[in-house]
Amino acid sequence: MNTSRADAVPYLSTEELFREVNERIVRLNQEFESPEGEYLCECPNSLCAERLRLTLAEYEAVRRDPCRFLMAPGHERVGSIVLEQNASYEVVAVPVSRHLTIVH
Ligand SMILES: [Zn+2]
Repeated sequence: MNTSRADAVPYLSTEELFREVNERIVRLNQEFESPEGEYLCECPNSLCAERLRLTLAEYEAVRRDPCRFLMAPGHERVGSIVLEQNASYEVVAVPVSRHLTIVH
């Protein structure tokens, strides 16, 4: 079955849209065998342009669970659960409207 991604987009949260972009960055980094990449902050602010430097392994550890999102410190929604935090980024639990298909 071939579902159109364009049809699904209006139902995605901002966090999920940023995740979609980052999935493409992951694929590019894999293609160029780059161990480090700049990933977009996956916070709910659609105008956020913050980029976070992570290794591919670090980002893959975040996105392994589709409910975990990468954000710059302090960018999470009020009341969100911060699962991990370090100086440059944090991992936030976000309820997703649908589970993204993760392409390996
Ligand atoms: Zn942000």
